[in-house]
Amino acid sequence: ITGHDVVIIGGGAGGIAVAASLHRREPALDIAIVEPATEHFYQPGWTLVGGGVFTPEQTRRTMASVMPSFVTWHRCAATALLPDQHQVELDSGATLRYRALVVAPGLTLDWSAIEGLDAALGHHGVTSNYRADLAPYTWSLTQSMTRGRALFTQPPMPIKCAGAPQKAMYLSCAEWERKGVLGDIDVNFHNAGGALFGVAAFVPALERYIRRYGIQCRFQQTLIAVDGPARLARFQVTSEAGNDVAEVPFDMLHVVPPQRAPELVRTSVLANDAGWLDLTPETLQHTRFEDVFGLGDASGTSNAKTAAAVRKQAPVVADNLVAQLKGDPLPSCYRGYGACPLTVERGRVVLAEFGYGGELQPTFPDWVNQARQATRLGWHIKARQLPFIYWNLMLKGHEWLAGPDRRA
Ligand code: FAD
Repeated sequence: ITGHDVVIIGGGAGGIAVAASLHRREPALDIAIVEPATEHFYQPGWTLVGGGVFTPEQTRRTMASVMPSFVTWHRCAATALLPDQHQVELDSGATLRYRALVVAPGLTLDWSAIEGLDAALGHHGVTSNYRADLAPYTWSLTQSMTRGRALFTQPPMPIKCAGAPQKAMYLSCAEWERKGVLGDIDVNFHNAGGALFGVAAFVPALERYIRRYGIQCRFQQTLIAVDGPARLARFQVTSEAGNDVAEVPFDMLHVVPPQRAPELVRTSVLANDAGWLDLTPETLQHTRFEDVFGLGDASGTSNAKTAAAVRKQAPVVADNLVAQLKGDPLPSCYRGYGACPLTVERGRVVLAEFGYGGELQPTFPDWVNQARQATRLGWHIKARQLPFIYWNLMLKGHEWLAGPDRRA
């Protein structure tokens, strides 16, 4: 058994950011990261790959290049979390012992939950910006389409970046509008939920784009099967009359898969009833195990699952974990901040920023009107500043604009 002060599960946005924040506070801490992947992705950039703005390479780095030099990197997957023994089992057969554990393995994209989807993806006009290798296909389909029917789907919540299903749709529509072919394309948004966006304040600004692009919104419709060669999508349609099934032919289908808590968390004692990490929302400490913290998409807290949330969470976890190791009260508080820059056209974004309970937490002053209108400033932030902030500040533990709030 190898021992570390802190073991972090996952070297994604949350794992790397929290390691960097911990090291800035306590350089002497012995920190290990468990991460099997050889590549690290800036996933928020995949929307812009699908919209023809970024190349896939702009979203990808080797894991070795983002892994901090001060951590011990265990290049394997965690297979069991044993908080009663303060231990983690790895698929290499090794066991790690910790003084504090940070759980950040992200979430699982459940492609196989939709019948026929795995086989259809990447062919027959079926694509998804939720896979790095498929986002370029979204753009090539968008460019080649001049008429026919395009379907964009959104699965039941929770999903990471809840705005991403419609971001893909708006960027495709903007391109079709620019080419003068939008009028010949029947665009449909099939949403398993009942609202365009979970926080009502942003809905009117989005609805203006729904009208402008002539999009048909089909609520309470969940994709359940795809027949690629026949170009047919099957939806479960929920209405007051009960459940029904609708088959819709398509020329292009952009799918966002159903998403669930990773098996590692779901099958551990750290999970809540729904399988996600059972954390205290304000402190991000586990509700029952004091030496366990968590952040990112695996968390059961009600914030939007975004890298923006991770940017605010990492310093809170770092502050509170260091205090926990010293036996001090936990000093820092996370108010549920998450952000979703909705790319409604090429060059403009509705910048949705909100916390727990849908409380608006805008970065910019009132006169920018960021909830009520799409802005060029928002696009500049999404396409230029946020990638820089991610790679050079967040993953390095620089907490500019992300300093934690103090607990009352
Ligand atoms: P991830 O970054 O996914 O990292 C999880 C890591 O854990 C991975 O490296 C994985 O290999 C590793 N792991 C998994 N299982 C194990 C295991 N058993 N043992 C060890 N390691 C394991 N966010 C925004 O803020 N703004 C956006 O505009 C935005 N747009 C998005 C668009 C798309 C298409 C997608 C897919 C995501 C988007 N996001 C956006 C969401 C953002 O990317 C995630 O919220 C963020 O990456 C979550 O960080 P994480 O560390 O929890 O998970």
